[in-house]
Amino acid sequence: MRAEPQSFDRVLSSMCTEPHPVAREAAVRFLATNPGDPGTYPQVSELEREAVSRLGDVAGLAEASGYVASGGTEANLQAVRIARERADDHRPNVVMPESGHFSFRKAATVLEVDLRVVPTDDDHRADLEAVRQAADEETALVVGVAGSTEYGRVDPIPELGEVARAVDALFHVDAAWGGFVLPFTDYEWNFAHASVDTLTIDPHKMGQAAVPAGGLLVQDETLLDELAVDTPYLETTSQATLTGTRSGAGVASTVAALEELWPGGYAAQYERSQANAEWLAGELEALGYDVVEPTLPLVAADVSTPTFEALREAGWRISRTGSGELRVVCTPHVTRAMLEAFLADVAELTPQATAPVSSCD
Ligand SMILES: *Cc1c(COP(=O)(O)O)cnc(C)c1O
Repeated sequence: MRAEPQSFDRVLSSMCTEPHPVAREAAVRFLATNPGDPGTYPQVSELEREAVSRLGDVAGLAEASGYVASGGTEANLQAVRIARERADDHRPNVVMPESGHFSFRKAATVLEVDLRVVPTDDDHRADLEAVRQAADEETALVVGVAGSTEYGRVDPIPELGEVARAVDALFHVDAAWGGFVLPFTDYEWNFAHASVDTLTIDPHKMGQAAVPAGGLLVQDETLLDELAVDTPYLETTSQATLTGTRSGAGVASTVAALEELWPGGYAAQYERSQANAEWLAGELEALGYDVVEPTLPLVAADVSTPTFEALREAGWRISRTGSGELRVVCTPHVTRAMLEAFLADVAELTPQATAPVSSCD
């Protein structure tokens, strides 16, 4: 029997989504290309320069430098690597709020840096005072999160940048998930708002590109030199990427999605996703659940383990935060109709649910 991928009908847990049709088409067309070998695959290399430039437009960076990585994990690891290479210390440290993504734990292990994880405040944002206290002269990198994976929170990015400067550390912003919705909010999160050195932004999440497509952007091209190694058998002389052979499909679909959707299409999608998140949060609250206010299109609610398991049993692809809350990510494939069906199932599992489930279009 021919294997088929899952349908997205009941997927509420993923940071990724269905690629936009133009992104899917571009991915298929460029499937057999390798931007890691520009001498052999010049067309896709040219496209990668365009992808980086367009990602710079999204993140407030004119004259953008960087590359299309395999995802946020690689981009974050490379940001840590740049900072480590730049630091004089034998074993430098990285300061990160506890809302930081687990990819930094992998980076810290691989690169042998100390990861100093500091608490967040009552609203799940980096506690500035705690970051200030943890940062010292051995700090190579301070990390801020712009759209946290668990609660969609945005750290005080300009202030964190100042903390980094004060100890002569680099400042990295992880906008892997948030990067394609934040331009349509009032948050300060990117190169234009703060002294950001490096930034992660994933086209394969809210950017609607095909997997794998992550983005690493650097404020100053010379930061990439920290990563460069010689490449004897290729026509190009050095390589700053972590992997060698890379996905041309990811690169081409990134350009196609950005060409099609930036900025109007992404803005409209953000409005839909945010309205869906606020609607779901309101309905869950009406059913009596504690809900973490969705400041970006991501809802967390305190649903009991038996209810959570029954929903999984009913086929809903849902996940939990570290402290056990149900987590629903309102990605582009998540429609109001899907959420209505989901909510009806939640209501059925809620003891003494009295609030009627309102139907919206
Ligand atoms: C998803 C995510 C990552 C990891 O990205 P991958 O593409 O899964 O490697 C890193 N940081 C944040 C904030 C994320 O949401």
